[in-house]
Amino acid sequence: MALNISSPADFHVHLRQGSFSELITPHVRKGGFHLAYVMPNLKPPITTTDQALKYKADLQKIDSDVEYLMTLYLSPDLTPEEIRKASAAGIVGVKSYPRGVTTNSDGGIESYEAYYPVFEAMQEVDMVLNLHGEVPSDTKTNIHVLNAEVQFLPHLFKLHHAFPRLRIVLEHATTRAAIEAVKSCGPTVACTITAHHLALVVDDWAGQSWNFCKPVAKYPDDREALRSVIKEGHPRFFLGSDSAPHPPHTKSTSTPTHACAAGIYTSPILLPLVADLLHSFGALQNLVGFVSDFGRSFYRRPARDGKTVQLRKIEGGYLVEERYIQGQDELVPFWAGKRLNWKIVES
Ligand SMILES: [Zn+2]
Repeated sequence: MALNISSPADFHVHLRQGSFSELITPHVRKGGFHLAYVMPNLKPPITTTDQALKYKADLQKIDSDVEYLMTLYLSPDLTPEEIRKASAAGIVGVKSYPRGVTTNSDGGIESYEAYYPVFEAMQEVDMVLNLHGEVPSDTKTNIHVLNAEVQFLPHLFKLHHAFPRLRIVLEHATTRAAIEAVKSCGPTVACTITAHHLALVVDDWAGQSWNFCKPVAKYPDDREALRSVIKEGHPRFFLGSDSAPHPPHTKSTSTPTHACAAGIYTSPILLPLVADLLHSFGALQNLVGFVSDFGRSFYRRPARDGKTVQLRKIEGGYLVEERYIQGQDELVPFWAGKRLNWKIVES
């Protein structure tokens, strides 16, 4: 059995910087993808057009066969003038991180109102606002990793109401409440879903640091809602892998005082993994919509750019590589040592 997937696109990926970037950027194509929507949370974050263009050139030097769509990091430094400059230079979106919630997000948001002039300019030039939809944990107000996304949803509604023409993507949704919230919004609001959140539930990361990411995987009923919306073929829900590599020593909790980094690395196995997962819950017929057509349509990218990837079902499956090593850098992918049933035969 074979499947032909036209123009797969990953609408949320972390490609890091330096030698780490050299190891992981080629994994975008290895995983079956030719379009990468690139996150700006570098050190320092990408806050200007010039920085974004320089970063894009660095990525192109590593692999020129991928289309990189660039983003800026929402911060108080960002001005309406910079938005117009960025848009004219082909930068597609602005990513908002809640302060301190995720990797390199110390400079993220606390309240959105200060950014309304920036959002106004984005709406005008038709840039996309990408939201990491979690509020920071706070024991005083009972906000924690399990309800941080649900507590964020009023911000989504408020932004959508204030800027109805602004295209907004709620990134890496993990809850039934988030799926329902996005569905209830107008056509300018979409949502990405990762591969790992289609696989994991809360039990899988409690006690297993390699499955730990932000937002954390939620309850089985939440995972069911993510799967259902894909089964339904809803056009405003599409793949954004949030593939986020970290060196193994930061992922494992080798001492009692060392907390593990949040992030799951799926890039090198992404398309076969998504095919396996969709197959497992009866949604394989919507694979092309989920990994290509729906996201491309929302982001106004050509639906078919000529690159087709073929997947073949392997009898008995095959094992995912345990690690990738290049020079001093080393990485362990999601699903390491486990079996996948779909394999890329042509790309
Ligand atoms: Zn991310």
